[in-house]
Amino acid sequence: MKKIFALLLCVAMLAVCFIGCAETTPDDGNKDNPADTTVGDDTTAGDDTTAGNEDEPSAKVFKMGTNAAFPPYEFKEGDKFVGIDVEIATAIAEKLGGTLEVVDMEFDSIITAVQQGEVDFGMAGMTVTDERLLEVDFTSSYATGVQSVIVLEDSDIATLDDLAGKKIGVQLGTTGDIHASDDYGAENVTKYGKGADAVIALKGGDVNAVIIDNEPAKAFVAENEGLKILDTDYAIEDYAIAVKKDNTQLLDDINEALEALTEDGTIDAIIAKFIKAE
Ligand code: GLN
Repeated sequence: MKKIFALLLCVAMLAVCFIGCAETTPDDGNKDNPADTTVGDDTTAGDDTTAGNEDEPSAKVFKMGTNAAFPPYEFKEGDKFVGIDVEIATAIAEKLGGTLEVVDMEFDSIITAVQQGEVDFGMAGMTVTDERLLEVDFTSSYATGVQSVIVLEDSDIATLDDLAGKKIGVQLGTTGDIHASDDYGAENVTKYGKGADAVIALKGGDVNAVIIDNEPAKAFVAENEGLKILDTDYAIEDYAIAVKKDNTQLLDDINEALEALTEDGTIDAIIAKFIKAE
């Protein structure tokens, strides 16, 4: 029995060795002059490491913290994560030689997850605010968001002023939450984990209005009968990607990728795919 184990171990070790050798062969083969390997080893060592580093990012899995309940930026189709942010992040990860993994969480947890390094970046239709800038760094902005107000079709709320004294539903920790609490009093604001839950509360009469970003607002109104969006835009904001403070390398890399993807039209094409021009 022991012999068989020993034999298997040998075979396994040989296999590892063989794979290791096989991996280095094409690298060496790439060198102009394979005969120079010994002499060149030192000088080409740099090459080797660069090649190794170039290979490594392809193994790098970029973890994106998001809240996949924010159509059309991030939502689920069956088990799949889809949306503008998911596609832009995928394109960024590819530009950086890696792949993307979406980590779904409450919106309110994303910044902490970025700070603690549980995810590489946060991307969730996230607005750049001064408060958040104290906690994380933001890349350049890739999209504009507008805070909108959803009410029932037959609501007597027609303007922002009409919201005074009304019950407002928001998504916890969002700019809608912050603005509504500041402007209309925290006691009038009910916070929900998901925007969709705030909309259900609106339909059920638990709140009189929902303040949320305009694109999800449009998606929710399209999915639910009897709702409308007020004409007045509540606030105009910039969406950007949150990166851990002092991770300037990643911040620079993402900004560079974003710039390239903007220049070659990828970002516009992704946005246009999900947001039809009116
Ligand atoms: N743009 C809003 C914010 O950053 C909402 C984002 C979201 O709910 N995913 O707070």
